Amino acid sequence: MQCEICKVEMVAITKKNSVSVLGIIGVLIFLVGLGYAFANFLVGVIIMALGIFVGMAMRGEKLTMTCPSCGNKTNPVSL
Ligand SMILES: [Zn+2]
Repeated sequence: MQCEICKVEMVAITKKNSVSVLGIIGVLIFLVGLGYAFANFLVGVIIMALGIFVGMAMRGEKLTMTCPSCGNKTNPVSL
């Protein structure tokens, strides 16, 4: 992929989204699981794993193509 302005090969950079609401929910689920682990270790581990899964799934990473010359940006991949 080339820049429309400079005809320079564009560079792919990944942009991490700022903390998402669902990322926070993932952390909260993890903490609930941590609490459960004292009462029932197996249930706690399952809930913690769920929290990690939710947090990982919602960690949005966007691939952005950026021109190294002029900084022109396009978004060929939207997740
Ligand atoms: Zn350019």
